Amino acid sequence: MSDRQTKTDVILIGAGIMSATLGSLLKALVPDWEIKVFERRASAGEESSNEWNNAGTGHSSLCELNYTVEQPDGSIDISKAVKVNKEYQVSKQFWSYLVNSNLIRNPRDFIVPVPHMSFVQGQQDVTFLRKRFEALSNNPLFQGMEFSDDPAKLMEWIPLMMKERTLNKPIAATRIESGTDVNFGALTRMLFAHLKSKNVDIKFKQNVDDIKRTSDGAWELKVRNVDSGTVERHTAKFVFIGGGGGSLHLLQKSGIPEGKGIGGFPVSGLFMVCKKPEIVARHNAKVYGKASVGAPPMSVPHLDTRFIDKKQSLFFGPFAGFSPKFLKYGSMFDLVTSVKTHNLVTMMSAGVKNVALTTYLIKQVMLSKEQRMEALREFVPDAKGEDWDLLVAGQRVQIIKDTAAGKGTLQFGTEVISAADGSIAALLGASPGASTAVSVMLGLIKKCFPQHIKAWEPKIKEMIPSYCESLLDNPALFREIQTATARTLGLSEKSPSHIARRTIS
Ligand SMILES: Cc1cc2nc3c(=O)[nH]c(=O)nc-3n(C[C@H](O)[C@H](O)[C@H](O)COP(=O)(O)OP(=O)(O)OC[C@H]3O[C@@H](n4cnc5c(N)ncnc54)[C@H](O)[C@@H]3O)c2cc1C
Repeated sequence: MSDRQTKTDVILIGAGIMSATLGSLLKALVPDWEIKVFERRASAGEESSNEWNNAGTGHSSLCELNYTVEQPDGSIDISKAVKVNKEYQVSKQFWSYLVNSNLIRNPRDFIVPVPHMSFVQGQQDVTFLRKRFEALSNNPLFQGMEFSDDPAKLMEWIPLMMKERTLNKPIAATRIESGTDVNFGALTRMLFAHLKSKNVDIKFKQNVDDIKRTSDGAWELKVRNVDSGTVERHTAKFVFIGGGGGSLHLLQKSGIPEGKGIGGFPVSGLFMVCKKPEIVARHNAKVYGKASVGAPPMSVPHLDTRFIDKKQSLFFGPFAGFSPKFLKYGSMFDLVTSVKTHNLVTMMSAGVKNVALTTYLIKQVMLSKEQRMEALREFVPDAKGEDWDLLVAGQRVQIIKDTAAGKGTLQFGTEVISAADGSIAALLGASPGASTAVSVMLGLIKKCFPQHIKAWEPKIKEMIPSYCESLLDNPALFREIQTATARTLGLSEKSPSHIARRTIS
């Protein structure tokens, strides 16, 4: 064991998209702060942020039906859709700032335009989709959305999904061109390369085992080299726990009262992947359907065009599943060791309340390949087993806490938990996820650094022109930002798949 000790301004635990984003924001706001990063894996973005571990959807509510809820009076509540869309605009502005400032290059390597679509079957869902379309298309953030229940039009939009389809019930879809596919793994690696060039000390294969408050109010981390077992102590005035699924355990170790009474429930994800060029070339969209009854919101089925390492593929899923691990490369004891005296009742209440969900997840795990192919054939009627492989994606740890809705309520959002003095903060939950990383991290900065925020506002505004502005009340600003980010990020150009399809046909 080594007793090496260091002191720094900021420590980021974990090298996923969240730490990458917070580090990049802080480097822009206070370039002279010293930042260190500790990551247990051998490189950045190996867990949920990795391109093969998530669906890569730039979530902006252009296609996700679960963000627009039908009310008892039949109207559609679009408030969540508007919120998520605005958050994604913030991400695109920050990424554009980084590209324009030459801090990251080649946006095509991480973001590609791919139309976003919603697809439904059956009269009830067609009626819902039409109402959703009408509610959204009156809103400036969703301009350009089209609706069709005409099979000929759908054949033009989604030929792979329409071929061999039996038309024995009504079907409909919406489509909007301004959707995106994001390679969050590539973006994470680019952001860490940028941070490294700004002298951020990034240490891989270093597991943070423990976190303790020091007598002067700073935080001391016990960091273990996963190969040699050597232990070092590193102290910082501010610590961000960006451990993804690993954050809950670290938050508990910090002992802050704000972290008490919170539990986690892991939901794993699986995709079916097709890489056959002749099939892949027949689909160019991210098409979201409706979740089956009893399914959690994160397992809404979708068929996605993906661009990874300049190659095009199709993802279908995610199939949910149950594993007690909190990280893909985690431990089978993660769930058990997250149960403490302070969250025991909350966890037990959640267990009792969510028997149906647990049963659903276990059934999902037990699905055979052929049963998964059946689900896929709802989207691609002539899909053949030999063309699709199973891919194990990332783990999402949902937050369990006591809320106004009752003890042990399962939450499907993200939440920043921070100490009252703002000296430590953790990000829990994973939805809408990486797409909203910039908004979530700006929220964290506001919460943890209230004494600096006034002085930092001009720089934030330079990076994110919509900061403190209402895009809904200012459609001209929205159009200006939309045009500028699209130009910088290459989103006004045709997507590579359009090019591929033209070449093939
Ligand atoms: C199946 C699936 C589909 C998804 N689809 C989408 C999507 O389409 N769009 C979207 O926007 N989001 C999506 N998400 C969510 C998104 O992937 C996550 O919200 C995001 O990647 C989380 O980033 P993170 O940095 O918090 O965590 P991670 O990327 O998981 O990074 C955490 C890092 O911390 C490290 N770590 C953990 N504990 C320790 C420790 N003790 N010491 C040192 N290092 C530690 C881990 O090794 C890891 O590298 C999806 C997620 C899943 C699982």
